[in-house]
Amino acid sequence: MTEYQVDHWIGGATVPGSGEGLPLRNPATGLRIGTVARADGGVVDRAVAAAAEAQRDWAATSLARRTEILFRMRDLVVQHSDELARTISREHGKTVPDALGEVGRGRETLDFVCGINHAAKGEFTVDASTGVDVHSLRQPLGVVAGITPFNFPAMVPFWMHPVAIATGNAFLLKPSERDPSASNLVAELYREAGLPDGVFNVVHGDKEAVDAILKHPGIAAVSFVGSTPIARYVQQTAIAHGKRVQALGGANNHAVVMPDADPSFAAEQLAAAAFGSAGQRCMAVTTAVAVGAAADPLVQELRTRAEAVVVGPGDDPGTDMGPVITDDARRRVVDYVTAAVDAGAVPVVDGRDVVVEGHEKGYFVGPTVLDRVTTDMGAYCDEVFGPLLAVLRVDTFEEALDLVNSSPFGNGSAIFTASGEHARRFTLGVTAGMVGVNVPIPVPVAYYSFGGWKDSLFGDHHAHGPEAVRFYTRAKVVTTRWPHQEDRVAASMSFPST
Ligand code: NAD
Repeated sequence: MTEYQVDHWIGGATVPGSGEGLPLRNPATGLRIGTVARADGGVVDRAVAAAAEAQRDWAATSLARRTEILFRMRDLVVQHSDELARTISREHGKTVPDALGEVGRGRETLDFVCGINHAAKGEFTVDASTGVDVHSLRQPLGVVAGITPFNFPAMVPFWMHPVAIATGNAFLLKPSERDPSASNLVAELYREAGLPDGVFNVVHGDKEAVDAILKHPGIAAVSFVGSTPIARYVQQTAIAHGKRVQALGGANNHAVVMPDADPSFAAEQLAAAAFGSAGQRCMAVTTAVAVGAAADPLVQELRTRAEAVVVGPGDDPGTDMGPVITDDARRRVVDYVTAAVDAGAVPVVDGRDVVVEGHEKGYFVGPTVLDRVTTDMGAYCDEVFGPLLAVLRVDTFEEALDLVNSSPFGNGSAIFTASGEHARRFTLGVTAGMVGVNVPIPVPVAYYSFGGWKDSLFGDHHAHGPEAVRFYTRAKVVTTRWPHQEDRVAASMSFPST
């Protein structure tokens, strides 16, 4: 394959990067496949100017016209799902069926915004006071930006731009520099759907581009998804520059397995949740908390499931799990496993030495299950972001809940049980934003909102769904009186109360 160039997309056209770009590699081969442009402050300025100009007319465009375009966009995403999925798989490494799944979950936000006229409508009160009516409305913020991670190059941006655009904003996307191509494809689809030029823009790059966005006076709000240290930095910098911000961070998601759960079902679900996309999901299950007698059968079943996972390139139909994103990421996972084993963890399945024939330079690490992990091990405390499932053993439900709640992260959490009582106590007591009962990855459907607690989210609005409608708009309340000449009430110096 010849190397390709990924340019910025500004005002409805590609804009070449100036200066040296960043290398793109196929994680399954380790080979360089292209170059992505790298935006500086000047490129961000240009994109904000194009967006600001387009936004004025877009905000005044009727909801009927906006949703007509969004319906067309939804259909185009369905038609181009395969192309999007293959593009994602090539740059990210995940399997094509998994990438198709991400495109589908991302498209759900388009389904949601096709009904934006309902989701964003205001309220009206007749005769709040005598002859006085009150109504509320929500108006767009202007130009808003999204900064997104490598692990869902389509789905995570889709949590943002459809809602921002549907509510009358112009959007500036800075996708991950590791797998940027899907964003340009989405830009082309928006154009084909009839979205006016400049309403959706893409600038590529790394920290320099991000900093220019965070400090730009023409950007009203920033949505960020990525690791916790960067989320914290983004929130603090954007707030210091007067922006509304939501910054979703990293995770370490626990699944509690009670002795009354079916170990075969629980292990099947946990293995898929831990090893899908090579564990590079913010909702991946990283930790199984086995309660009492649940532990031995669970570990035995996990061994069988992990050993059955076929590791290989994402575009091979026989592959269950692809590589991790970079060689550094591969080495990081291996180092965490080595340190944990040295400290006493039991390697039930050890993926450190996996080699994929014909792809010896690919960034592969096999599914790994570590038993008897303790809370002082890095493999437990840190977000490893690889195909590693740590099993911790506790004696009681209460201990399990305390352990889950002691994590600084609070993205997703799950319980596997046959007891309604334990399920209820868990869902009410756990300090996480998304909870599953016998569901390992409880990602909310697009008409609810997605977000964690604690170090998994900075800001007070979750992503997509109703909270995103609020995030990308500001409220206005209008109080109206049309007095008849004959019954005009004299203004009073006291505060009116009836
Ligand atoms: P990352 O934090 O390294 O990068 C995210 C974005 O920030 C990218 O666009 C990147 O270019 C930019 N960035 C990186 N370093 C920066 C810096 N020093 N200054 C300014 N910008 C910078 O994250 P990643 O490795 O691309 O993605 C994986 C992380 O994202 C994991 O921690 C995962 O849990 C998290 N994530 C969270 C959610 C969620 O919903 N909470 C969803 C997906 C991914």
